[in-house]
Amino acid sequence: MKKINIAIDGYSSCGKGTLAKQMAQSLGYLFVDSGAMYRAVTLYLLENIIEISDEIAVSKALENIQLEFHPSKENNRFEIHLNGRNVESLIREIHIANKVSFVAKISAVRKKLVEIQQQIGEHKGVVMDGRDIGTVVYPDAELKIFMTASNEVRAQRRFNEMIAAGKNVTLEEVSANLIERDTIDSSRDDSPLTLNESYHLLDNSNITPNQQFELAMSWVNELLD
Ligand code: C5P
Repeated sequence: MKKINIAIDGYSSCGKGTLAKQMAQSLGYLFVDSGAMYRAVTLYLLENIIEISDEIAVSKALENIQLEFHPSKENNRFEIHLNGRNVESLIREIHIANKVSFVAKISAVRKKLVEIQQQIGEHKGVVMDGRDIGTVVYPDAELKIFMTASNEVRAQRRFNEMIAAGKNVTLEEVSANLIERDTIDSSRDDSPLTLNESYHLLDNSNITPNQQFELAMSWVNELLD
């Protein structure tokens, strides 16, 4: 059976992870949340009191960062481990979200994480979501999807998720964070979030997760038939 790589890029909190997970499960592929890697690096820098604006200090710190994805026992997913510690929940805190886009602007950080991401996809059969997957990580991905949704829908969805996970945030904080991250992620010099003609555009403001899944799988089936 032919295997492909699937790149899912787009704005923050568009449901990229949800779609990527569903597709990976249905195809028997590996799902990789590349944003978790940027978040884990951010957690390391904050915990070790390393100034994010000091690119030399950040580059040095990268030598001490080891990231791995391990299958979780409770649910059918992979969770990120930073130097042997499961940090899947910690990296979802708002104080990490507030700093991660500044860390993701640093080329040394991107270089290290892109290398790991490319190794994971060497043998195909990967669904990876992020911001630069179809442009930089897997420019040859057979299927590229660019996801978007209205600001209101995205903020409300992420707020609901965070409240359900027991995080202490307001809708206003979540909304401001999404807008700030989108602005930084789309305008940075290194690997900005960019929509080009190689992507299928998927706006899910007014469709259900099921409809979105059906649409994405119809694109996969066109390629695999
Ligand atoms: O996907 P998620 O929202 O968890 O990503 C967190 C942040 O990590 C993004 O806002 C972006 O700054 C950065 N990121 C990136 N490139 C990726 C994935 C995430 O720059 N491929």
